[in-house]
Amino acid sequence: MKVLSTFVAAALAVTGSAALAQNYPTKNVTMLVPFAAGGPTDTVSRVLAQAMAKPLGQTVVVENRPSAGGILAPEQVKNAKPDGYTILIHHIGMATTPALYRQLRFNPLTDFEYIGLINEVPMTIIGKPQLPANNFKEFLDYARKNKDKVNYANAGIGAASHLCGMLFMSAIQTDFQTIPYKGTGPAMNDLIGGQVDFMCDQTTNTTSHIKSGKVKAYAVTSAKRVPSLPDLPTLNEMGVKGAEVSIWHALYAPKGTPKPALDKLVSSMQEALKDETVRKRFADLGADTYPADKQTPQALQQHLKSEIDKWGPLIKKAGVYAD
Ligand code: ASP
Repeated sequence: MKVLSTFVAAALAVTGSAALAQNYPTKNVTMLVPFAAGGPTDTVSRVLAQAMAKPLGQTVVVENRPSAGGILAPEQVKNAKPDGYTILIHHIGMATTPALYRQLRFNPLTDFEYIGLINEVPMTIIGKPQLPANNFKEFLDYARKNKDKVNYANAGIGAASHLCGMLFMSAIQTDFQTIPYKGTGPAMNDLIGGQVDFMCDQTTNTTSHIKSGKVKAYAVTSAKRVPSLPDLPTLNEMGVKGAEVSIWHALYAPKGTPKPALDKLVSSMQEALKDETVRKRFADLGADTYPADKQTPQALQQHLKSEIDKWGPLIKKAGVYAD
């Protein structure tokens, strides 16, 4: 009897949770952001979260969990209840941190369910308004001549701004002192205030400050010029080779999230990315929304794997470690 009632209770629990998953979502969904509010990852998350609310039928609450290199939010999502109510937005850092941290407390390839790729964003090399350099050549001259006192801001080891800085310094064979922040939102404030000299950051954070003249802009890191910032040369055009980098964003859920909830998250993200106002908002910030065939769990899984295979050996060769 005891066995039977245990069995019935277990069966009810299973059907109960399956039914719950079928009704998903019945409350707000929380999207964790690995960096500080006001930065580029935060900007992408807020545009997407707002647009996903309609297809999901629930509010998507953005919560910032800033940490150097963005390694805290993925760990928290890994350990969150896998019920579809906690999801993660992250960028290229999901592919670079495994090579940078010897004791990373999550595995991007085994601890998550994939939702899909969102968009791709170039980076820009920008300087504080007080820098005397007015174009890339002048900036390079100035930075090389003053390399012992020039510093650059980033969002910690594993951040896109760290990767870009590392590639840039190696390409121009000059090292600068690094000032780490918990996101390039706060770093941007200090750059505008003149407390740090330069930074490499996504156009999603830099475009408005470049256009309003609050910072000096020197180059973009993409292969081609960016339509929203047509006057900025590419690093390649400026003769700086090997520092090409573009930052991709994607959505993840904890491993074991039930399929009905996951399917709903995938279709809601896809629906949100079809929205012309979302695509236009991203485009105005220099970001390219991925085509529909990339906005899938399979495409994200493949992309993540190929990015880990691409950046891992390069980072290991550079001998950079966070711990
Ligand atoms: N741009 C930052 C990075 O370097 C992240 C952020 O603050 O959104 O990864």
